[in-house]
Amino acid sequence: MTDFFDMRSVILGNSLANVILAVIMYLVWQKYRGKFQGLGYWFTAGLLQVGGQGLLLLQGIAHDFISVFLANLFILSAGLVLFYGMELFTSARGRHGLVFLILLPLVPLYYWFTFVMPMLYARIFIFSATEIIISLSFIYLLNIRIKKKERELYRQIVGVFALLALVFIARIVYGTGSIDRFSLTSTDLTDSILLLATYMLFVLLVFSLVVLINSRLLRDIGEYLKEREKLVLEFKRMASTDSLTGIYNRMKLEPLMTAEVLRSRRYGRLLSVLLIDIDHFKLVNDNYGHNIGDSVLRDVAAVLKDNIREADSLGRWGGEEFLIVAPETSTEGARKIGEKLREAVAGHRFIRDIKVTISVGVATLMADEWEDDMVRRADEAMYQAKNSGRNRIV
Ligand code: GH3
Ligand code: MG
Ligand code: MG
Repeated sequence: MTDFFDMRSVILGNSLANVILAVIMYLVWQKYRGKFQGLGYWFTAGLLQVGGQGLLLLQGIAHDFISVFLANLFILSAGLVLFYGMELFTSARGRHGLVFLILLPLVPLYYWFTFVMPMLYARIFIFSATEIIISLSFIYLLNIRIKKKERELYRQIVGVFALLALVFIARIVYGTGSIDRFSLTSTDLTDSILLLATYMLFVLLVFSLVVLINSRLLRDIGEYLKEREKLVLEFKRMASTDSLTGIYNRMKLEPLMTAEVLRSRRYGRLLSVLLIDIDHFKLVNDNYGHNIGDSVLRDVAAVLKDNIREADSLGRWGGEEFLIVAPETSTEGARKIGEKLREAVAGHRFIRDIKVTISVGVATLMADEWEDDMVRRADEAMYQAKNSGRNRIV
């Protein structure tokens, strides 16, 4: 049992696992490098981890500078580089790479307790404390530094780092008893189990990173679709709306009228249209300028809109001409609508106290007639209204 758990086997097994993890990080980096930032650093972290573990295996073979000092520095750097990658991945603002400052005290301290005053427990303490600081940095980054709505994505990673921090705290606590005993041929069960626990958490971490990338992709796609839906709605609205007056434009009104004509012909229902033209509108432009003219045009549209029924459709037909499609409406009914609109416009005080009137031509769909014929008759009626004095319905 104890032979089964000797350190060299544990570290060797883990080194092989780390190679696979590094390959996974490489594949992730290759696939998503253009899409997400920081993945190159995650792969680099994988390489540092593999390198550090490899050097650890050389204990007793190579000089301590390589198999102890460099090995552990590589492994700790892997954590720092991974963290930096996460800062980039999350686009957390400010303090990018500040975590590397840990290296300043770390390198001389670790060197000191390896060569000047060799002391295993001090090294375990420094190593574990650094890993705890890195884990807490991750937790801080993913819980506090990033935006609130982003945090949900990183719960799993935060959990892994919380466990890692606990395991390294256990190593510090337990390590006090392992002075002089920690070595590659050590078969101490607790040492091995704690080490195994960190290795398993590393595997879980890499798995969580891959899951994380998937979640981010899914979320990005979801947001993209939502954005697209909004744009489509906006484009639809823009395509059917007249930009000056906010009512329907001709592009919207024409198919709408065609549908009503088809319905009317199919079921033998009444259908009328009203063509409305502002009287002497050129004078408004000439006397007050084009901007005031625009304002009056907008207000006329609003007055018309306020005085028609829900079932009737109003649109801007041309420059200062409007068309109303009135289903289920006889000529007489349409004239009533026209009269109501004429009074409403004539009684309205526009900007600068301007007064305008409208002339209205009415037409009701006749058997075997199409919308063009009906509108042409409405147009003729409107000109008749103009010729017989304006401000009236024909
Ligand atoms: P009538 O009583 O015969 O209709 O006289 P009118 O001056 O209104 O003559 P007409 O309908 O032929 O002229 C329309 C004028 O409306 C011409 C043009 O300068 C003006 N107009 C058309 N579109 C717009 C617009 O979008 N903004 C402004 N300010 N003026 C417009
Ligand atoms: Mg006019
Ligand atoms: Mg006109």
